[in-house]
Amino acid sequence: MGRLTDKTALVTGSSRGIGRATAVRLAREGALVAVHYATGAEQAEETVETIEKEGGRAFAVQAELGMPGDAHQLFLGLERGLKERTGETRLDILVNNAGVMGGIAPEEVTPEQFDRLMAVNARAPFFVLQRALKNIPDGGRVINVSSGLTRFANPQEVAYAMTKGAVEQLALHYAKHLGPRRITVNSVAPGITDNGSAVFDIPEAVRQMAGLSAFNRVGETGDVADVITFLATDEARWITGAFIDATGGTLLG
Ligand code: NDP
Repeated sequence: MGRLTDKTALVTGSSRGIGRATAVRLAREGALVAVHYATGAEQAEETVETIEKEGGRAFAVQAELGMPGDAHQLFLGLERGLKERTGETRLDILVNNAGVMGGIAPEEVTPEQFDRLMAVNARAPFFVLQRALKNIPDGGRVINVSSGLTRFANPQEVAYAMTKGAVEQLALHYAKHLGPRRITVNSVAPGITDNGSAVFDIPEAVRQMAGLSAFNRVGETGDVADVITFLATDEARWITGAFIDATGGTLLG
């Protein structure tokens, strides 16, 4: 029996990357997983198929985050999918993973780019969590994906890092707020993680990025997904409000 049998989970942005790996692992532990996506319908279906091939249960949910009404749209699809499969709308595990990167020189960040980063990476997790609390029972789990860049300077990512700094505040304040209900809220901070994007096909770039980790390699999506999955289990019941460094030792300096 898996550690998450009879649990339900929502992983935002699980059509690919860290989110996909997390959805697959949560399902492997027995959770019914809502695979959320914005534009990657086919990729989300691939995540669902991967889970089903392994004998797990999942369904896809579409909603573009960072838009007015985003949390409402997300929960319409989520609740429909949960109700069809379980007869109720209980959500045990929320993983706020969806995010967009920056990569813009500090002098060149426009107000529009800044607002977009904030809307997707910080505002959406706040309102998704606020909405999710109608469905999350006592003992539930909330895991927000931050970034090692909140503690590792990279000027090209100042605006992005600001959004992740904001996300980390969710764990501090909500952990206190939800402690009486035994709901844990934590931040997981990945370092450079191979999400399949083009830069990971360039050996010299990968060598340089690998050098930032104490283990001299870039992270695999599963490295981060395993940490998130642990936080979702009962074994992690005594951890809340924490910043979990999942950078492979990048923050050691
Ligand atoms: P990817 O770029 O591989 O995937 C991003 C996911 O988020 C996709 O499923 C995408 O959905 C979804 N998404 C993006 N924008 C939106 C939006 N506006 N509305 C809804 N969904 C959206 O991401 P990673 O796996 O690399 O990153 C996952 C998380 O980890 C992010 O929060 C990122 O900031 C963080 N992180 C990643 C690091 C890395 O090196 N990879 C390092 C540190 C932190 P779709 O494709 O369907 O549109």
